[in-house]
Formats: sequence, C-alpha cells, structure tokens
Amino acid sequence: MEDEIIKIDMPQNARRIIGELEAAGYEAYIVGGCVRDALLLKEPHDWDITTSATPMQVKKLFSHTVDTGIKHGTVTVLFGSAAYEVTTYRIDGEYLDGRHPENVQFTSLLSEDLKRRDFTINAMAYHPERGLVDLFDGQGDLKNHVIRCVGLAHERFSEDALRMMRAVRFSAQLNFSIADDTRAAISDLATNLKQVSHERIRDELMKLICSDHPERLLDMYELGLTAQFFPEFNEMMDCEQITKYHCYTVGVHTLKVIENTRPDPVLRLAALLHDVGKLYTKTEEDGVDHFYGHAGVSAERAKEFLRDMRFDNDTTKQVCTLVKYHDPRMELTEPHVRTLMHDVGTALFPPLIELMRADMLAKSAYAMKSMSNVDRLEEMFVLCRDRGDCVTLKYMAINGDDLSEIGIPKGRRVGEILNALLMEVINDPEKNNRETLLSMAEEMNRE
Ligand code: ATP
Ligand code: MG
Repeated sequence: MEDEIIKIDMPQNARRIIGELEAAGYEAYIVGGCVRDALLLKEPHDWDITTSATPMQVKKLFSHTVDTGIKHGTVTVLFGSAAYEVTTYRIDGEYLDGRHPENVQFTSLLSEDLKRRDFTINAMAYHPERGLVDLFDGQGDLKNHVIRCVGLAHERFSEDALRMMRAVRFSAQLNFSIADDTRAAISDLATNLKQVSHERIRDELMKLICSDHPERLLDMYELGLTAQFFPEFNEMMDCEQITKYHCYTVGVHTLKVIENTRPDPVLRLAALLHDVGKLYTKTEEDGVDHFYGHAGVSAERAKEFLRDMRFDNDTTKQVCTLVKYHDPRMELTEPHVRTLMHDVGTALFPPLIELMRADMLAKSAYAMKSMSNVDRLEEMFVLCRDRGDCVTLKYMAINGDDLSEIGIPKGRRVGEILNALLMEVINDPEKNNRETLLSMAEEMNRE
C-alpha cells in the first residue's frame, strides 16, 4: 500500500496532554476507538491517550486528575468539563478465568500495549507529529470493513470471552463483516461467555441492539453467543407461528420488530422481549397456532431477564409495561383508550404506539391490513390527551382530604373509593367535577 500522510484533527486539550507528557520526557499517543473513528471520518466520542508515563508521573504533571483505575494504569485528566483518560502502556498478565488478567504490568513499549488490544481496527495509535502507528494493518481492515483479532483469535477470546460479543457489536455498529478465523474462533469458544459478568454482557448487548444493524443479533445466535445469556432467544428462533397473521418464526419476527423501531434502548429492549411469552403460551387448534395471553407472560419473562442482566429499575419497569400492553386487543372506544392510558401512563403511550407499528410491520400482509387500528388508537390517544381527559388520581377533581371531610374515615376505604371514582371518570370525563364525585362517594360509602 502506498504511504499516505494521515492527519487526524484532535481536540486542543488532547494535543496539550500529549505535548506536556512529551516535554517531561515520556511518549504519548491517542489510541483505540478515537483513532478508528477519526479514520472513518466519524466524530469520536472520547479521546483516549496512551503513554509511557506511569499513573503517578501523569498525576504530577496535571493539576486536575481523577484516579479512575490506577491499578490498571488509568488516570483521568480534567480540563474544565472535558475529561481525557490517560492510560499507561501495559502488558496484560495471564488470563486464568477468561475475564481479566491476573496482573497488569506497565511497559515502556507502545507495541506491547497495542498487542493486548482486541481488534486490529482498535489497535492503532496516532501522534500529531509522528503520525499513525499501525502494526496489525488496522487500516487495511478498516478499508475492507473487517473485524479481525490482533494475533490469534482463539488465544484472544480465551483470554477475555467478552471480546466475542465485542466482535459482533463492532460489526453491527460499523456494518463490517467478521474475518473467517475470528468467526470460527467465536463458534468454538462461545460457551466461555458464561464466565463473563452479566453487567459486561449487558453493555455490549445494548450497544449491539441500539446500533444501525441490530439484526446482527442473528450473528450472535448463529455463533452460539445468545445461547449463553438468553437461551430463550434460541427457542424463539425455532418457534414456528402457523397462523395467517404471521409469516416468520417468533425469533425472525422479533429481529424485524427491533429493526423497525428507533434506536432507543427502552423501545429496542421491548421489541426484543415482546413475544418471549409465546414460548410458554403456544397452543394448536385445527392446525393453527394460538398464543393466548402471551403479552402478560412476556412481561413476566422480560422482568426476570432484565433483572438477571442487572438493568436498572426504571428501564425494567418501562420495558415491561410496553411489553405487557403491546397487544391490547380492545375495542377502540374512548373509555378503553383512556383505560389503556391509565395502565400505561401518558408518557409511555407514544413509544407503545411505535412498538405496535413496528410489530405490525413485521407480520403477514394479512395482519398488516389492521394497521389502520394503530393509527386510530393513536388519534384517539392524542384527542384524549390534548383535551386533558383525566386518567390518573392526580387529575381527579377531588382527593382523599375531600373524602375525609364528608366523613369517610382515612385509610383503605378512601383509596378504594378514589379508585372506583377514577374508573367512573375514565368511563365518562363529564363526571370529573366536585359535586358529582362527592355525591357518588357518599353513595359508595353507604353501600
Ligand atoms: P466505543 O467506546 O466507541 O464503544 P472503543 O473502541 O473506544 O469503542 P472501549 O470499550 O471504550 O471501545 O475501549 C477502548 C479501547 O480499549 C478499544 O478500542 C480497545 O483497543 C481496548 N479494549 C477495550 N476492551 C477490550 C477488551 N476486552 N480486550 C482488549 N482490548 C480492549
Ligand atoms: Mg471508548
């Protein structure tokens, strides 16, 4: 390959850190993801620096630093609100557990540091004067759109099994293919992923499903990775749906629903999990498959999966709500729409509609004829919301204190009556005024 002069335009602060480290007699480069992204003409989201200086030496040179991971050689250097991770060149010791090195050794050789990195495209360093350091033809792989391990794939995946997920994740983010030997090694070693913490797996899974090519989850399945942390996905891939509403297995349908949604974490997770309950509710009648009540079961399974993968409560709650109500099978009347608004919450309703549309678009042509129902549901939701129809206790014309004043003793009874009144109001918004509600409350209290 002809040598082109490669120039990367880096932030002033990154240049300054490199300059100060070198003025003090050390070496320093930008490295990893930022070099890869800059060469792809994408704006890097962070600029990592690698240096021959030890963490203590780095800390001496800069006034504002944070000890991010001193043991692993990382110090964060702060300039106002900008943060740069500066990591000492290191050699990873032996990996005995398939997850982390027994020890980390600092070195003065850049080449050693680049050797321990996962993929050729992630193993390049750049210096503003000395230019690009590319020891494993990362540039060639960038040009050919290939994810390839640095060194021997089997060894690299045996050291850290998470790298197998990272290979598929980068291929989905960049729309690259995975080199044959790298692929084969994943297939061989997929079960090692069991040794990796669910938190780390979760982070890679999210980067994959929120990428431009979430359908590459199929690669994770084919390579044996999903089986290690989400075996139900494999079962979904095998779960046929003999019905006029569907034309794919549950798994293939699921992949298409994911592709049809915006790359929002909650929506994409809901798409991933919305039909998992079909595995447990499938029945057959006269050669036709049914999945009665699958949405509720999906929500229960989703909750277990999300807890197991250590997702936060807020995400878990939102995803489970979307999953539970993705297939409401109700009559399109205003009271029913308001009931759904009450159950789902007004804020989650637009994503619910998005999920329903994405779901519908991944069904058979026959099923898609009902798309107008989703449009209609959306129109009715917008109407009820913009008119300010009351669907929660908060917006009801009376509260618990009002009930106490008319002599209903505080406690469980108040809650029951308020909820019964809310149901009345959801049915008929005209009833949401003090007099009507108070007289209904008195009547309910007499019953
Ligand atoms: P992004 O941050 O855009 O997801 P990145 O390439 O910066 O991509 P990080 O996870 O932030 O990825 O890691 C930074 C760099 O550290 C990588 O480019 C790679 O060189 C190295 N690296 C990260 N994780 C591993 C790993 N598990 N094994 C080997 N090298 C790794
Ligand atoms: Mg990064």
